[in-house]
Amino acid sequence: MAVPSAVAGLLRRPARLGDEVYSAIFARIMSLEIAPGARISVDAMARQLGVSQTPIREALARLESEGLVIKTHLIGYSAAPQLNAKQFVDLYELRLLLEPFAARKCAEIMPAEVIDQLGALCVEMEALSHREGLDAYAQFAQLDMAFHDQIAVSAGNALVVEALSRLHTHVHLFWLLFHARVTKSAIEEHQKLLAAIRARDPDGAEAAMREHIERSRDRFKARYPSQTRGA
Ligand SMILES: [Zn+2]
Repeated sequence: MAVPSAVAGLLRRPARLGDEVYSAIFARIMSLEIAPGARISVDAMARQLGVSQTPIREALARLESEGLVIKTHLIGYSAAPQLNAKQFVDLYELRLLLEPFAARKCAEIMPAEVIDQLGALCVEMEALSHREGLDAYAQFAQLDMAFHDQIAVSAGNALVVEALSRLHTHVHLFWLLFHARVTKSAIEEHQKLLAAIRARDPDGAEAAMREHIERSRDRFKARYPSQTRGA
């Protein structure tokens, strides 16, 4: 039986021109070289990267599906805007409703080979924690996204997957943590969660995911200068 796995694709890392163009634009958005809300010109981007417009359009369509880019009729592409304080609170409320549930289901039904793939992701994230800089954090954010996506997919409820994917959580969190480093505590929280799934412990997995999301919220919350603004 084929297991839908975002993780397997990520670990394979195919290097096509399209992927390179995608990564280049991804990095510019994530590093705020292209500011949130700013227009992205297909023509200018093609000239900057020295490629034709086709791979640029393909990359932008992919970034749009991931929530980093917005396409507006007659205007074209722009980088997605940042969350305000109220949207941040809402995002975490919904995550706390859905993700601990997904972790509980995974402890019951996630296939052993997918648990192993998540284990491999944890090892990669651990390795990144020994490196500094934006590039390491960008890679960490992508691996973390794959980790959480896989748990949502493996829980087996398509509506939960859809609701979580529409939040584009990692895009927003990355921007908040622009100057941050890979956090050791997030790595330990993932390992605790994965251990509970591996032990087929639904209560433990649910509690570990809740703890991870609450602590993640607290790590990011400090980035908002005022919790009253818009809240
Ligand atoms: Zn995480």
